[in-house]
Amino acid sequence: LTVEAGCTLRDAQRAAAEAGLLFPLSMGSEETCQLGGVLSTNAGGLAVLRYGTARELVLGLEVVLPDGRILDGLSALRKNNTGYDLKQLFLGAEGTLGVITAAVLKLFPRPHSHETVLLAVTNLRAACEVLVAVRATLGDCVTSFEFVTHEALGLVLRHLPDSRAPFGGAVTHFVLLELSVRAGDTHLRSAVEALHKQLLDDGVVQDGLVATNESQRAAWWRLRERIPAAERAAGGSVKHDVSVEIGDLAQLTESAAAAVKQLVPNSRCSIYGHIGDGNLHFNVLAADGADPLLFREQHAAAISDAVHRCALALGGSFSAEHGVGQLKRGLLRQTKSPVALDLMMRLKASLDPKGLMNPGKML
Ligand SMILES: Cc1cc2nc3c(=O)[nH]c(=O)nc-3n(C[C@H](O)[C@H](O)[C@H](O)COP(=O)(O)OP(=O)(O)OC[C@H]3O[C@@H](n4cnc5c(N)ncnc54)[C@H](O)[C@@H]3O)c2cc1C
Repeated sequence: LTVEAGCTLRDAQRAAAEAGLLFPLSMGSEETCQLGGVLSTNAGGLAVLRYGTARELVLGLEVVLPDGRILDGLSALRKNNTGYDLKQLFLGAEGTLGVITAAVLKLFPRPHSHETVLLAVTNLRAACEVLVAVRATLGDCVTSFEFVTHEALGLVLRHLPDSRAPFGGAVTHFVLLELSVRAGDTHLRSAVEALHKQLLDDGVVQDGLVATNESQRAAWWRLRERIPAAERAAGGSVKHDVSVEIGDLAQLTESAAAAVKQLVPNSRCSIYGHIGDGNLHFNVLAADGADPLLFREQHAAAISDAVHRCALALGGSFSAEHGVGQLKRGLLRQTKSPVALDLMMRLKASLDPKGLMNPGKML
C-alpha cells in the first residue's frame, strides 16, 4: 500500500481493508495520527508481538532531505541487498534527518477469526508464565498480550464510572490476550479453551473468560485503553515507558516499585503494558488525597531517575515507545555508548549540517 505522509493511520487501515487485506498497526491515536508521525516515531501499537513495530512494516520510503533533494525509495521489493538500507535511518528518527513524504507499507491477509481472553493472575511473574505457555501452544496466533495491575484497573473503575470490573467485581491483575488465525484454521476456539483449562488446573491463573461477543471484547479493551485517561482524572502521573527482556520484567517492576516506595512511601504505582514486547508503562501517582501537582514538582525527577536506573541496570531501555524528543535528550547522552552517540551525531551532521530538521530534539 503506497501512502502519503498526511494519510491518517485509520485511513491506511481502511484502504487495506477495502482491498481485503490488513495493515496491522493499530493504537489509541489511530483516528488522528498520520503516517509521517507514525513512521518517524516507529510507533508500535497493540499487535507488535505478531507483526512488529512500524519499522518492520515499511518496504519503501520517500524522504525530502534537508538540502531539498528527494530520496525516492518508494519500492515494494521485499528483497534488495544493494547496500545500506537507507529508509531505516528515517524510521524512528523523530523528524531529525528529513521529512518523510510517502511510504510503501506491507499488508497481510485478514485474519479469518479471532478470540479474546481475559485471565486473572496473581502477579507479573504468573503473567509471564502465561505468555510462555500461550506462545508454546498457540505460537504465531498470539497478536496482543497486555498486562494490567489491579492498581491500574482500580484507577479506571474509580475515575471512569461507566467502567465495570470483570470477574464478578473482583479487582485483580489481569492479562488481556488476543489471538487470531487465517482462513482454513478453524481450531482456534477449541485450542484456546483447552489452554485456558490447563492454566486454571495448573494454578497459573486464578480465573479466566473467553469473550462471547464483540461488545464484551470491546469492553475489556476499553479497560486497558482507558488507563491513561483514568490517571489524568486522578490528577496525573509521572510516566515511564521502559522495556527489558521479557524474562526480566518481574524483576524490573519489583526493583522499581521498591525504589519508588523508598523515595515517596505512599505513592501509587500504575503498571500496565505490552508485556509480550517486554514493554511496561510504569507510572507513579501521588498518595490518595495528596496534591498531585506538588507531588510531581517535588518528586518527579527523582522517581524517573530511579525507574530508569532499574531498567538500565537490567540492560533495558528508558524509552520503548515514547521516543526521546526534548525531555529525554539528557538521558540519551548519558546512556548511549560513546561509539553509538558519535555515529548518531555524525549522521545528523552529515545529512543536516545546518541543523534545520527538528532542532533541539533527540540530539
Ligand atoms: C491515545 C494514544 C495512544 C498511543 N498508543 C501508542 C502505542 O500503543 N504504541 C506506540 O508506539 N505509540 C503510541 N502512541 C504514540 C504514537 O506514536 C503517536 O500517536 C503517533 O504515532 C504519532 O503520529 P502523529 O501524527 O500524532 O505525529 P506527531 O506527534 O505530529 O509527530 C511525531 C514526531 O514525528 C515527527 N514527524 C511528523 N511527521 C513527520 C514527517 N512527515 N516526516 C518526518 N518527521 C515527522 C514530528 O516532528 C515528531 O517528532 C499513542 C498516542 C496516543 C495519543
